[in-house]
Amino acid sequence: MARVYLDHHATTPVDPRVEEAMAPYWGQAFGNAASAHIFGWEAAEAVENARAQIAASIACKPSEIVFTSGATEADNLAILGSAPGLARRGRHFVTSAIEHPAVLDALRHLEAQGAELSILPVDSEGRVRVDELKAALRDDTVLCSVMWANNEIGTIQPVGEISAACRERGVLFHTDAVQAVGRIPMAIDSIDMLSLTAHKIYGPKGIGALIVRRRTPRIHLQPLLFGGGHQDGLRSGTLPVALIVGLGEACALAASEREQRARHVQELRDHLLYRLQAEIEDLTVNGTLRERLPGNLNVCIQGVEAEALLLELREVAASTGSACSSAEHHPSSVLLGLGLSPDEAHASIRFGVGKDNTLEEIDAVCDAIVKKVEVLRSFSRHDSRER
Ligand code: PLP
Repeated sequence: MARVYLDHHATTPVDPRVEEAMAPYWGQAFGNAASAHIFGWEAAEAVENARAQIAASIACKPSEIVFTSGATEADNLAILGSAPGLARRGRHFVTSAIEHPAVLDALRHLEAQGAELSILPVDSEGRVRVDELKAALRDDTVLCSVMWANNEIGTIQPVGEISAACRERGVLFHTDAVQAVGRIPMAIDSIDMLSLTAHKIYGPKGIGALIVRRRTPRIHLQPLLFGGGHQDGLRSGTLPVALIVGLGEACALAASEREQRARHVQELRDHLLYRLQAEIEDLTVNGTLRERLPGNLNVCIQGVEAEALLLELREVAASTGSACSSAEHHPSSVLLGLGLSPDEAHASIRFGVGKDNTLEEIDAVCDAIVKKVEVLRSFSRHDSRER
């Protein structure tokens, strides 16, 4: 069997059109965008063009984009960068139990320094309850961060309602929209800050952005990095022009092809689910299928260690937890947060279908999984008889 990549929540391949757009900026157009000469102006123009592409795809202003090394830095800048300016108003922060570590650990860092943190649970579908969130907002709450779509179970959060509730209480709202950008329609009117990254939308690794809305009262951010004062002093460091061009092109393509990509990946995801459910007993879906990213599937195959299964299926690239934490072996906190037992979490697999996957690939993956599950289950039946 040829290898099949079904891990598009971890990362995506760079689209050849993105590679082509970036190519000149590694070579002849190598200038520093801050230089006051022809090479610099050429680079600065490419950065401005990328800003315009990103702004058009997200529906924000070009001046609201702060380029970062990725979403980890964007999340950290949103949280750690806003906390000092908010400290006089309060030190209470609200988030959800299924956030990416880039958000949770940044907030825990603030907690270790004396801030108070409310971590909201999710319901059995994997969604934050808006009434619980409203109840958690206090007079001293200064920032709420809830992700737009989850990287493990693909559930889409009611960020429109959450951000509106925050705005009513004068609480800043940040969302990690890494998995949502390019995959679902997004309206960012009541959102204050939004993180995104290129490598989840067929762009290069090492570049992302924090969108900081220009609104009244102004959002005051302190930089995490000090240096040459680039990007209005918010993020010092020479701009990586080729990567920025890649992010711009990836955003433009994701926006123009979103519906077509979503239809394609959802069709394949549904086929994958249909076949696995029909051919494997005791298989359940983790999280709701209603409000979910179109290419995401996360299933629990009772009694089968997901890690053992994926080791056997060397040609199938899927994941047992989120890619960012798969070096660790404890059960996924997102799955535990849904109410799964540790054994069920260890028996769960995440699939992320991408725009270039084919029906033939999905069928080949299903055939292979069904066969291996039978083998692993017959081993464990045999083992338990021996004991
Ligand atoms: N947030 C979410 C939801 C993610 O899925 C990831 C990456 O896996 C990140 C943040 C971190 O992004 P980056 O790799 O650009 O730092």
